[in-house]
Amino acid sequence: MRELFRISDQIETFRPGKLLCIGRNYAKHAKELGNEVPEDPMVFLKPASALIESGEEIVIPRASSDVHHEVELVCLIGKAGKDIPESKALEHIAGFAVGLDMTARDIQSKAKAKGHPWSVAKGYDTFAPLGEFAPPHALRHIQNTHIELQVNGETRQSGNTNEMIFSVAYLIHWCSSIFTLMPGDLLFTGTPEGVSQVHPGDQLVAKIEGLPSLTVGVRAA
Ligand code: MN
Repeated sequence: MRELFRISDQIETFRPGKLLCIGRNYAKHAKELGNEVPEDPMVFLKPASALIESGEEIVIPRASSDVHHEVELVCLIGKAGKDIPESKALEHIAGFAVGLDMTARDIQSKAKAKGHPWSVAKGYDTFAPLGEFAPPHALRHIQNTHIELQVNGETRQSGNTNEMIFSVAYLIHWCSSIFTLMPGDLLFTGTPEGVSQVHPGDQLVAKIEGLPSLTVGVRAA
């Protein structure tokens, strides 16, 4: 479990707060799961106890036989704010990393059918692998950056942040109208299409242009 974040060689550290995750923020991914493209961002929460770092392993829980990878751009909030205007939103970002929103798809599908929350499907220990943070300027064009995920050397997800339905700035603005954003909070901004199942022994490499890559293994519980 991750307890502190540091941005590259900076001295300041952040303790992880709430993990705000956006669902269906890339139109093609919404469609591949048979979902409507949303009119407003769809947000859910993941517990900070799910965080792991590069070099660690995702654990497939006994309760699931269909755990999926979702590669995502992750923002670290560095400055508190409530009702943040979209024009000021990027000033609240302390750093960027590549992350994975691991999802027990079978558990999620059952929850969706019953109208239940996704907390279990999204919240198992190890379900939030996160790469090292880089300062905001490492991403030259936040909304035009390549994002990809390889499994055992084979590309499974390949997209661009220009395909997001809601921009990073808009998501911060929108989330801050509901939740006060605090230093250490993380925003997972959604995944491009190509999500698929992982298996014990797989090696996942997540990459976003300009950021440190993330490598994690997979094992059974
Ligand atoms: Mn996701």
